[in-house]
Amino acid sequence: MAVIDADTITAIATPPGKGGVGIIRLSGDKALSIAESITQKKLKPRFAHFCGFYQNKNPNDDNLLDEGVAIYFKAPHSFTGEDIVELQAHGGPVILDAIVTECIRLGARMARPGEYSERAFLNDKIDLAQAEAIADLIDSASIEAARNASRSLQGEFSRRIDLVSSEITELRIFVEAAIDFPDEEIDFLNDGRVSEKLQAIINNTNKLLDNADQGRILREGMNVVIAGKPNAGKSSLLNTLAGYESAIVTDIAGTTRDILKEQILIDGMPLHIIDTAGLRESPDLVEQEGIKRAWQAIEDADCILLVIDSSDNNQENSSWPEFTSRLKRTDHLAIVRNKCDLSGIKPGIDQNDDGATVITLSAKKQQGIELLRDHLKQLAGLKQHSESGITARRRHIEALKKTLGHLQDGMMQLTEAGAGELLAEDLRYSQQTLGEITGKMTADELLGEIFSSFCIGK
Ligand code: GDP
Repeated sequence: MAVIDADTITAIATPPGKGGVGIIRLSGDKALSIAESITQKKLKPRFAHFCGFYQNKNPNDDNLLDEGVAIYFKAPHSFTGEDIVELQAHGGPVILDAIVTECIRLGARMARPGEYSERAFLNDKIDLAQAEAIADLIDSASIEAARNASRSLQGEFSRRIDLVSSEITELRIFVEAAIDFPDEEIDFLNDGRVSEKLQAIINNTNKLLDNADQGRILREGMNVVIAGKPNAGKSSLLNTLAGYESAIVTDIAGTTRDILKEQILIDGMPLHIIDTAGLRESPDLVEQEGIKRAWQAIEDADCILLVIDSSDNNQENSSWPEFTSRLKRTDHLAIVRNKCDLSGIKPGIDQNDDGATVITLSAKKQQGIELLRDHLKQLAGLKQHSESGITARRRHIEALKKTLGHLQDGMMQLTEAGAGELLAEDLRYSQQTLGEITGKMTADELLGEIFSSFCIGK
């Protein structure tokens, strides 16, 4: 586990630039003495002192840098768990720099990015998922993403992780005790309660993974792939969604040869749109490479828009089954029947027998576009106002998937091989990977990587 150094750290906690107020934070053993030297006041904990900020200890006007408010948070009742003093001055870069320089002259050092949160984590004030939620809250691009981050910061995500972890502990105790009494092992392996409990844990982990993935999509934005035959209107749809000309729209088949990434915002949530090369067999090597990448993007997507030309009977009748048969799942597929202005079909939204959404619209005439935008918002969780939303990162998703993998391996050991000891080992691994999310089992290098992506003063 990483250790906290004994340095007292300081940084400007407010964003760079000019503002009404600018806040400097000090954290560590010397925070109080440095702040008392600068303010020339005895600071009471949790009390807003109006005071001067002085250079070189002399409380005379020549050395006065600014006037403002100082608040002392005595350890352990502070964000980092250490003594913290916040100096609230006027928000000008020159004045704030001068105060920080004075803090450093008096024995503090500049904080590294994320060092306050890192200390809060190392002092057990928050866990890793909560620390990351602070960064997510600050970075959130929509109110739903902010709500999710706030819920995770309150410990909701960690609480659910801990719940699954304690279920695993319970099962481990049972399994390991049974292994220690080999005479009874046969009974325990055949006892339906173990597989029942394990299945319940798998189900709960799956639910958590779904929730976390939704949170990840809201936070990062959704990867939307626009796929379809040449000339179906993919580029036109992309342009209509993006609101400007970003792809080359022509009527020569095969114009969009490569993957084109575009980012648009829908109610503050970023959508990363990948317009793929037309998915036709082609002798052209460049085009073949484009098609290969398109299928990879389709595999990785959060949502697939399959654009078909509804005025072309061939496409109407053939492209759906051919395309959908290559997909691993269809719940994130929407079939966009474009060119409804030509086919005469009314704009609308429906579902087909495979459970895929079917949206009829015209990219060129801008008919039915709102239906598609609403559908994308729904998928991204922007319209759900869920009470259970949490913020999550790819790191969390990966850990949950690994946990699930170990649990499923354990189930196989139990039901197919009847191997109690291997089940016990899988359960131990699953708990370890789960612990990586909250930081109970996280390697030091990973911690460094996570906190260094935070900004200074956080
Ligand atoms: P892509 O190859 O799938 O990217 O197709 P494009 O977006 O380049 O469109 C091919 C042709 O169809 C262009 O001439 C577009 O103007 C036309 N087009 C696209 N969408 C519509 C539509 O909704 N209605 C009509 N009438 N034409 C469209």
